[in-house]
Amino acid sequence: MGKEKRVLIVGAGPAGLFCAYRLVEAGIPVLLVDRMSSPGRKFLLAGSSGGLNCTHRGTPAELSAKYYGNEALFKGLLEDFSPDDLIKWYKKLGSDSFVGNGGKIFASLPVQEVLRRWWEKLEAANQTATGSRGIPLFTFQGGLEFTGFGAAGQFMFRQGDAAVELGAEYAVFALGGGSRPETGSNGAWVNAFQAAGIQVAPLRSANCGVEARWSPLLRQRIAEATARAGATRATARAGAASHAHGAGASLDIALKCSGRATTGEVVLTGYGLEGSGVYSIGWYIRQELEKSGTCTLAVDLLPHLSAEQLKRRLSKPRGKNSLSNYARKALGLTGLSYLLFRELSPEGDLTQVKNLPLAITGCRPLEEAISSAGGVCLSQLDSDFMLKSKPGCFVVGEMADWEAPTGGYLLQGCFSTAYRASEKIMDLLS
Ligand SMILES: Cc1cc2nc3c(=O)[nH]c(=O)nc-3n(C[C@H](O)[C@H](O)[C@H](O)COP(=O)(O)OP(=O)(O)OC[C@H]3O[C@@H](n4cnc5c(N)ncnc54)[C@H](O)[C@@H]3O)c2cc1C
Repeated sequence: MGKEKRVLIVGAGPAGLFCAYRLVEAGIPVLLVDRMSSPGRKFLLAGSSGGLNCTHRGTPAELSAKYYGNEALFKGLLEDFSPDDLIKWYKKLGSDSFVGNGGKIFASLPVQEVLRRWWEKLEAANQTATGSRGIPLFTFQGGLEFTGFGAAGQFMFRQGDAAVELGAEYAVFALGGGSRPETGSNGAWVNAFQAAGIQVAPLRSANCGVEARWSPLLRQRIAEATARAGATRATARAGAASHAHGAGASLDIALKCSGRATTGEVVLTGYGLEGSGVYSIGWYIRQELEKSGTCTLAVDLLPHLSAEQLKRRLSKPRGKNSLSNYARKALGLTGLSYLLFRELSPEGDLTQVKNLPLAITGCRPLEEAISSAGGVCLSQLDSDFMLKSKPGCFVVGEMADWEAPTGGYLLQGCFSTAYRASEKIMDLLS
């Protein structure tokens, strides 16, 4: 099979689309394919509640600390293509950006509009220019599912019931992880890569809810509180802050795992905990679970009270007050927070209210998670994200084995890895 003069990009999520944008802008013809009929479905989901949190404020050195275990790599990637560069790029699409809570940066245009303009720029390239040999600069083909690497260097696809082969000198794989498979990113590519001898770390849930064994009473009260708040409002609130999968009741509490404290909202659900607060320590929780099968969080039910203030308040004698009355009067501990206290401290020890043990039994399934841990091992890639065993083939975005918490770091990572690979392809073709 003759090699295509176009760069083949497999996967039309933000990482693949950004490669396509940069290459097309440089006059390099691109064939973008995806198993879905339209692009960017997970990107659309990411921006669907609470706006598109597209990156995070901070210097590359500061932000790289969020890319667990890959800080040095991401410092370099973020120096090459930083949050400021990303903001300028959104501006090119006509979207301003603004800084929200805790340094999260949001696009001012709705995500559908961002994607529409992005797509328009790609398609418009065909009207203003054609690549060398008269090939259209940009072509998209949906409904093509990558199934494997052919023996002669070709790429194998399924289109309906038919097998299709494509050849290309340069190919970029941007197939995403395995969360929310309804968006197209189903992680089935793992088998194809492993069959070609490429090491892939198993896809696992990241930025996901965690499970705890609540008593039937607490589960019932959580359900009641959720219903009282109104299922829609509770979901919207949880979603706006964190895209939480399950509805629940938001509590003003803090958690610690391995000495790391949560930053963000914690939502109690029937199965355990959700919310951006949980995601912010999710990596540490998973490390514990993977190491020993269990993980005990320290729950602080009164994060706004210092240990000293707690001591002072508890120095008031309880007198004839019931425990619940005393907890309410001395500490303002009521409702679900009080029930959670009783759940975690059956002996009713209020001095422990800032440090109660909660056993986490597992992570929610990958299908529900916001992102995936695992993917193509970084040892399989060179510094330009090219597969060492398949020169000319690049792996970018979430399908490579790196992870970060929510807050804009995921999309920034996808763009920065796509930037690095597309730079290399431009170098190779110049
Ligand atoms: C609910 C939710 C909220 C999120 N919120 C945020 C946020 O606020 N900020 C943030 O930074 N990130 C957020 N993310 C994460 C972010 O959306 C992802 O990290 C990002 O979309 C990954 O981009 P990608 O291009 O690597 O992969 P994807 O976006 O997953 O795209 C992969 C593409 O590859 C295609 N594909 C997969 N397998 C095949 C195959 N075999 N053949 C052909 N095509 C295939 C898929 O159809 C898909 O189009 C959120 C994610 C979710 C689910």
